Order: sequence, then C-alpha cells, then structure tokens
Amino acid sequence: MKTALITGILGQDGAYLAKFLLEKNYKVYGLIRRCSNPNFGNLDYLKITDKIEFVSGDMTDECSLINIIKTIRPEEVYNLAAQSFVGVSWDQARLTTEVNSLGVLYLLNAIKLFSPTTKCYQASTSEMFGNSFENGLQTENTPFHPRSPYAISKLYAYWITNNFKESYGLFCCNGILFNHESPIRGREFVTRKISEGVAKIKLGLVNEIWLGNIDIKRDWGFAGDFVESMWLMMQQEKPDNYLISTGQTHSIRDFLEIAFNHVGIKDWEKYVKIDPQFKRPAELFVLQGKSDKAKNILGWVPKVNFEELVKMMVEEDLERLKSDK
Ligand code: NDP
Ligand code: GDP
Repeated sequence: MKTALITGILGQDGAYLAKFLLEKNYKVYGLIRRCSNPNFGNLDYLKITDKIEFVSGDMTDECSLINIIKTIRPEEVYNLAAQSFVGVSWDQARLTTEVNSLGVLYLLNAIKLFSPTTKCYQASTSEMFGNSFENGLQTENTPFHPRSPYAISKLYAYWITNNFKESYGLFCCNGILFNHESPIRGREFVTRKISEGVAKIKLGLVNEIWLGNIDIKRDWGFAGDFVESMWLMMQQEKPDNYLISTGQTHSIRDFLEIAFNHVGIKDWEKYVKIDPQFKRPAELFVLQGKSDKAKNILGWVPKVNFEELVKMMVEEDLERLKSDK
C-alpha cells in the first residue's frame, strides 16, 4: 500500500484528491491545523472522513512539518495547503506569503533532511501568468507576471520547488492549474457565489447576487478531473512541471447565463448587482491555458465541460438548500 500525505486536505482539492487516492488503495494522511471546530464538510460530502488519518500541523510551523515528515515518511506529498483566495491576499499579504511561500520552503526542507525519497507535488497556479500570454493562450513557457500578493507568493513556491529539484535531486513537480471548481468550492469564489446565489433566488431566499467585474474570463474546469493530473505527474519517471487547463475560456456573464437558465430564469441581469468592493486592485482579464504537454505526456484530458460544471454546481446547491430547509 502506497502512502500519501495531503496538506490542505479539508479544502476542495484536498477532498477530491483524497477520494481519488483512496480509490487507488493509498493510505492517506491529511495534515490539518489546530482549530476549535475543524470543518470536515468537504470530506463528509465525499463520504471519506473516516478513511483518512489526520495529523496535526501548520504550514507556518516548520517543526510540525519536520515531525510529520520524519514520522510518516510518505512516498508522496501533495502540498495543497494555502491561503488560496486572491481577493483577500491584498489585505493579508504577510499571512499569504508565510503560508504559501515560506510554508513550501519548510516542507521541502523537511523532505530533504528527513525523507529525501519522498516525491512532492506543489499546487502552482495560472495566477502566476497575470495578463501575460502568447497567441492568446498561456503555456508552460509563457513568461510570468504575477499581479496579486497571492500570485507572487505562489511564484516563490514555484521556483523554490524547481530549485530543490535542481539543487538536491528531489522529485518535485509543479502543477500549474487553471481555475477548477466543484460543488465544494469555497463560497467566496465567484463560481460558487453564483451557483449558491442562483439556487437561493430560485428558492425565494434572496433577490440578488452582488458581484465585481463580470466581464473577466477564466478557463474553468472541474476539480474532480484536475486532481487526477496531480497524481499522474507523480507517477512519471522524471519530475517536471505541467500546465493543466480545459483550453476553453468563458466570461462570468456566460456562467451567470447558464446558471440562471438552468433554473428557468431568462432575465438574469435584473438579479445581478455590481458592488465595487468585489473588484480587485489589479485584475487578470483573460486566462486560457494550453495543456498539450499534459495531454501528450500524462495522457490527461478534462472530462466535464463548462456547461456541465455550471449545472452540476447549481443542482448541488439547490439540493443542499432544500435539505437544509
Ligand atoms: P482551499 O482554500 O479549498 O483549501 C486550502 C486548504 O489549505 C484549506 O483546507 C486550509 O485549511 C489549508 N490551509 C490554509 N492555511 C494553512 C496553514 N497555515 N497550515 C495548514 N493548512 C492550511 O483551496 P483549493 O482546494 O481550491 O486549492 C488547493 C490548492 O491549489 C491551493 O494551494 C490553491 O492555492 C491551489 N490552486 C487552486 C486553484 C483552484 O482553482 N481551486 C487553481 C490553482 C491553484 P482550513 O480548512 O483549516 O482553512
Ligand atoms: P481567482 O481566479 O482565483 O481569483 O478566483 P475567483 O473566483 O475569486 O475570481 C475569479 C474572477 O472573478 C476574478 O477576476 C474576480 O475579480 C472576478 N469576480 C467578479 N466578481 C466577483 C465576486 O463577487 N467574487 C469573487 N471572488 N470574484 C469575482
């Protein structure tokens, strides 16, 4: 039985990846940070909470990471823990940097010193590209130009991960993942905010959704598909970095239209209000990734398309709200 440690296991990707690895018969350890009432909601949703062995630690506490790596010596570590919300990273830039940048350095050091055969996956992001693209698309070779404290913190993590591979021969890979969503996406992210808002409007619980810039475009995929690529990267003979995307880009307006149409509302514009507080000091206008390398080498392709994703999210929020009633 292979062993894997997932940091950020209580988050969206942590939960989907844990389910995926359990189905592959892994022993899964999940790092969780101490809090009075940990939220196992995502793992409960996927019905796997009692199958995980939880270990207590924090990305900002180097000793806790050393102790965990030294004790478990997992074959694979998936570093998904992060202050992952771009919007808040301007207000909490230091925390974002401590978790997303220094946390990765601490983890890699722990691996290097106490379990150098452990493979490590780093959750890198399309945010690192900013508004940079070539022929309208981002690839592994597109120059980075991060535009938020979050993106900058992740760029450090990207390079320190490469550096530990090049300097010490560790098996480290970066997955440069474009936005991926699901019914357990954090509620402050725009897709989930819309799916939940639309479900609430349909059920007569609220009358409007307040958003920022709805003209921006993202390459949105399904988290359940994307976690498979993380595992595939770790099964290769040599560590490398891969861009993971659907190759399609859609605006928030497209998302709104499909979501509202799905519940039978055509005149969606009257329910959507704009609030400048949701606009960002520096914006990324269009993301669209070319994941040919992942397709050719990993054999990875996404399965769920944009329309299916939007409908799945709205449907699940409707169900959840109905059962909450
Ligand atoms: P989530 O925000 O859902 O999950 C992040 C997890 O990190 C949470 O469970 C959180 O714990 C944990 N965490 C935060 N701070 C610490 C800390 N100091 N010590 C230990 N754990 C901590 O993110 P996603 O699942 O959506 O994303 C997973 C990773 O992928 C993140 O690194 C994100 O930045 C990256 N990414 C995500 C993309 C996406 O579209 N989803 C796109 C590209 C990259 P707690 O539950 O206690 O709050
Ligand atoms: P991100 O791509 O990781 O920042 O994911 P988000 O879902 O937080 O944001 C995606 C895009 O939606 C960004 O360009 C935001 O500016 C835009 N957006 C517009 N309105 C909102 C909103 O109300 N909330 C959030 N989170 N994003 C919004």
